[in-house]
Amino acid sequence: MGRPDAGRSYEAVVYDLDGTLVHLDVDWDRVRREVGETLAEHGVDSEGMDLWEMLKRSRDDCVLAEDVETTIAKHEREGARRCDREDCASRLLAHPDDLPVGVCSLNCEAAARLALECHGLDECVTEVVGRDTLATEKPDPEPLLQTLDGLGVSADEAVFVGDSGRDAVTAERAGVPFRYVEEWI
Ligand SMILES: [Mg+2]
Repeated sequence: MGRPDAGRSYEAVVYDLDGTLVHLDVDWDRVRREVGETLAEHGVDSEGMDLWEMLKRSRDDCVLAEDVETTIAKHEREGARRCDREDCASRLLAHPDDLPVGVCSLNCEAAARLALECHGLDECVTEVVGRDTLATEKPDPEPLLQTLDGLGVSADEAVFVGDSGRDAVTAERAGVPFRYVEEWI
C-alpha cells in the first residue's frame, strides 16, 4: 500500500465490482428463476427475458419492483459474503494513499460494501454507488458521474476500470476514459 503510481495521468480511479475487483458467488440461474416466479405471481410473463429485463419490467409496479429488488439483493448479499478476490484487487491496494478511489456497481450497494469489507478493500474506497443508490443504473452515466462527484473529480480527470461492454458504454456516456480490467492490471 502507498506505492506511488509513477507518471499517472488520472486523479481518481473508479472500479466496477463484480468481475473486476471480486467475483460474487451468486447462482444467477436461481435468481432468475425466483424473480420469474415473483413476476408470475403478479401475472407477468417473463418468458425470454433476462434478469435485467425482468428487473426493468418489475418497475412498472412499485410493489412488484420492491419484491424483485429484495430477491436479487438477498442473493447478492449472500454472494458477497462468499466472494472471491480478483487479481485487480491487488492493483487497488497498491494505489498511493492519497488517490481517490470509488466503486460503481450494478450490484446493490449493501452487497458491494460487504464484498469490499470481505477482502479488506473498504478502507481504500471512499465512494460506493450501487444499483439501488440512485434511480438509474449503468449503462446510464449518472451512477458513474455521482461516484466522481463524491470523489471530487471531473469526468476527464478519472479513469473507469471494468470488465463488461456495459461498463465501457457507461464510461463513454459519462465522458470518462475507460480501461478493461485485463489491460489495467
Ligand atoms: Mg462487472
